[in-house]
Order: sequence, then C-alpha cells, then structure tokens
Amino acid sequence: MKIIMLGAPGAGKGTQAKKIAAKYEIPHISTGDIFRANIKNGTELGKKAKTYMDQGLLVPDELVVDLVVDRVNQDDCTKGYVLDGFPRTIPQAEALDKALESMDQKMDYAIDINVPDENIVNRMSGRRACVDCGATYHIVHAPTKEEGICDNCGGELILRDDDKPETVQKRLAVYHEQTQPLIDYYTEKGILKTVDGTVDLEDVFKAITGILGE
Ligand code: ADP
Ligand code: ADP
Ligand code: ZN
Repeated sequence: MKIIMLGAPGAGKGTQAKKIAAKYEIPHISTGDIFRANIKNGTELGKKAKTYMDQGLLVPDELVVDLVVDRVNQDDCTKGYVLDGFPRTIPQAEALDKALESMDQKMDYAIDINVPDENIVNRMSGRRACVDCGATYHIVHAPTKEEGICDNCGGELILRDDDKPETVQKRLAVYHEQTQPLIDYYTEKGILKTVDGTVDLEDVFKAITGILGE
C-alpha cells in the first residue's frame, strides 16, 4: 500500500503517518525528518536545506526528488510506504509519478488532512520535537509523561525554530501557493481522500483506517 499524506504544516501528517506505518507495517518516509537528520549531521545537503527551512520556504525540487526516488526503491519499500511531506509541489508529484510508472507501479491513496489555518498557529506553538529521535508531541494534545523529556528515548524536547509564529505564517502561505494545488492533482487521478483533522488524533486515525481498511 503506497500512501501520500497531504495537509498544511501542523495538520497532523507526521502523527498519522507514524500510526499508519505501525499498523500496516510499512516504512514512514518524512522528507522533513530526512532534512533535519542531515542538518544535525552537518552534511552538504543539510547545509543547503537549512537556509530554506529557516525561512519557511520549500527546499528546491532538485534537492528533494532524487532523494525520495532512491528511498522508495530500497528493499523495505516493496510492500509499500507512507510519504509524509512529499510531494509538496506539482513538479515533485509529476516526478514521483514518472518514477513509479517506470517501475510499473502507482500510488494508491493521497490522504488530505484538512485543518483550517486558524487552528494551525496554535497547534504549532504547542508542538515539541525530540532533539535526539525526532519524536513529536504537543504540550496539550499529545503530552509526554514527564514535561520536556521524550517518552521514547529520554531526549530533550524543543520548539522547532520554524514553528515560531512568524515562520508558521510564511509556511502556511507557501502551502497555499505551492502545495494545495496537489489536492486537485490527486482528485483528478482519482485517489484523493479527505479527512477532518480538527478532531481528536485517535478519531482522525479511525477515519483513515476506515479508508485504508483494517
Ligand atoms: P511539517 O511537518 O510541519 O509540514 P516538515 O517537517 O514536513 O514540516 O518540513 C519542514 C521543512 O522542510 C519545510 O518547511 C521545507 O522547508 C522542508 N521540506 C520538507 N519536505 C519538503 C519537500 N518535499 N519539498 C521541499 N521542501 C521540503
Ligand atoms: P505535520 O506533520 O502535519 O506538520 P504533526 O503530526 O507534527 O503535523 O502535528 C502538529 C502538532 O499538532 C503536533 O504537536 C501534534 O502532536 C499535534 N497534533 C497532531 N494531530 C492532532 C490532533 N488531531 N489534534 C490536536 N493536536 C494534534
Ligand atoms: Zn526522543
């Protein structure tokens, strides 16, 4: 099963993608996580990506596409995968389709998690990320057992630089301009499914499993 998660920054793509990956036993591929790991390790790719990410802008397509195409060609992806944060532009979607076509494959679902902009800024200011393992929490909606400490690995939790309100506004504008057109793109392909992302995260997951099947 090959799945794309769509939705504004903070809509809950990562949260749901992790749950999908665990339930259906497929890899969770997050381009944001890949970039953050590269930044942490000081790679050339990380250095290039950081200048865009810090401004709330998208990393150029040419730095993203090959990376994802290589990743979905790895052995653990034969049963499928859930893509989180990719594609984010029409050219990325077209490049992905072309790569899949050349392997005689196609995407099964594009799940759009719908959350209005008004809800996003609040949600992002409460998001906390683990500096060590990348796990994501929310101070109100998905709290850790001990404040400021990752349940998963004991690492320190931080507010991502790009989750500060000014940058979130920019990311939302970028989303509407460059990523939202993918909703029409996947509607035309006949694989778009929309879920309400404003409800409790377990209820969002129920809506998703209702689409994907048990
Ligand atoms: P969120 O989950 O909050 O939407 P991500 O972790 O997916 O954020 O992405 C963080 C940043 O990484 C984006 O703002 C963008 O700069 C960069 N990025 C991630 N994926 C892509 C992509 N497919 N194309 C371009 N830039 C990307
Ligand atoms: P995205 O990957 O789309 O940027 P995340 O999955 O990281 O979004 O979620 C953004 C923030 O909102 C996180 O702090 C997460 O814990 C929280 N969150 C996710 N889903 C919900 C929900 N349904 N209701 C409330 N908060 C949520
Ligand atoms: Zn951790």
